[in-house]
Amino acid sequence: MAAHDTRDSATSAQPACTHCHHRLHSADTHRYLCRHCETRTNERLEELPGLREQLRDMLEPGVRGPRAVVSASRDGSLVPCSLDALNLVAVGGITAVLDAWVADWCDLLGWQLPHLRNTDPGACNTPITGAVTFLRNNLPWAAERHPAVDDFAHAVHQLWQHATSITDPPEPTVRIGYCPAVLDDGTECGATLRATPGDADFRCRWCNTTWAERHCLTLAATLHTAA
Ligand SMILES: [Zn+2]
Ligand SMILES: [Zn+2]
Repeated sequence: MAAHDTRDSATSAQPACTHCHHRLHSADTHRYLCRHCETRTNERLEELPGLREQLRDMLEPGVRGPRAVVSASRDGSLVPCSLDALNLVAVGGITAVLDAWVADWCDLLGWQLPHLRNTDPGACNTPITGAVTFLRNNLPWAAERHPAVDDFAHAVHQLWQHATSITDPPEPTVRIGYCPAVLDDGTECGATLRATPGDADFRCRWCNTTWAERHCLTLAATLHTAA
């Protein structure tokens, strides 16, 4: 009943995380994001500069082999790079999204915008690491005090997922069911579990619980009960 529990907690009077909708621990009811979602958002933020570097490298002329990427343009002709990668690296991509959140948080906090902007003549991007450092440093504040921090967590997740789908394309997986792992706050995880055919182990991408082959009978029984 993991997924059902998740929906219940979103509609009950007990305060819930605005992102994952799990009920908040009694000491955390003042928070918008639960500690788990704050940690995951922080980890994904930390990875964004490296991912952007990888995407930029993939756009370098002459990249061949598994990293070579080709996209079809609107008229159907092939262009020698990934348009998805280009969109994330170009103006308006990852850096612009993070810059907009830096500006939003500074506005709410009444702070002047930090000097993240590259002032070199002709420069059009800001250093992503500056924005990421600012957002990671102030994420504990946002998790407790920013009413729209769910939108921020969602934007970071989307950028991370979009970037990793290009740098590390997912293998075909099959859907197993909902993760029955019990989290620190006593609630069930409830995220969708997927496994790669042929692999003995599979991991919940939300709570990081690894399910080995020896757990499969227990897991199957739990999922059967929950169905
Ligand atoms: Zn949460
Ligand atoms: Zn899980």
